[in-house]
Amino acid sequence: MADSATDTDKLHRRGLMFILSSPSGAGKTTISRMLLDVEDEIMLSVSATTRPPRAGEIDGVHYHFVSDAEFDRMVEEDDFYEWAHVFGYRYGTPKGRIRNALKDGQDFLFDIDWQGTQQLKQKDEQDVVTVFILPPSLDELRRRLESRAQDSAEVIDSRMERARGEISHWAEYEYVVVNDDVDQCFEKVRRILDAERMRRTRQTGLIPFVRELMA
Ligand code: 5GP
Repeated sequence: MADSATDTDKLHRRGLMFILSSPSGAGKTTISRMLLDVEDEIMLSVSATTRPPRAGEIDGVHYHFVSDAEFDRMVEEDDFYEWAHVFGYRYGTPKGRIRNALKDGQDFLFDIDWQGTQQLKQKDEQDVVTVFILPPSLDELRRRLESRAQDSAEVIDSRMERARGEISHWAEYEYVVVNDDVDQCFEKVRRILDAERMRRTRQTGLIPFVRELMA
């Protein structure tokens, strides 16, 4: 018998696939890290990418950094749940142990773009929860991009162009949260996760006394 509410919850519901998308600079990476820090029951789905690592990124932690040939092999062997071209590189969600772990009630966090989100929605509608994080305005997004890097105006312009493209997909998401204060944004995202865990349709195995009642 489970002896805590959390254990009971975990034993009797499927895990969920919690997808966070946003244009770069809107704070998605920070929110993801905050969520993983405080939520023991959600694991990051570590993507594979052909992009070279940036300073401070660790292979196997932030991404699995793979060669083009390795990525090709993974596609051929049907190793990906979804994969997409994003800004000149390829990114993919490895199947790994996700499908079985979902059955055991393990939640996963996906930091993926709109293309990956569409693919996961088509494959696994019932387990997927989609959240889009918006910057407060395009001006503020530009200000954030300018302040965090020493990029040229040209590079910033191209990032803004990509951001507009990504934002144009916001209506494909179930939840939209504006990040004008990172702590408040994080709390809102956390509340979405909490509520989604309690969705009745996710309670695939009824808790024992309810099952007895319904028998
Ligand atoms: P970055 O290179 O800045 O880490 O990520 C660039 C974009 O690729 C981000 O929007 C990120 O969410 C997206 N991305 C990361 N991993 C995956 C993945 O496995 N699949 C898809 N479709 N997009 C991904």
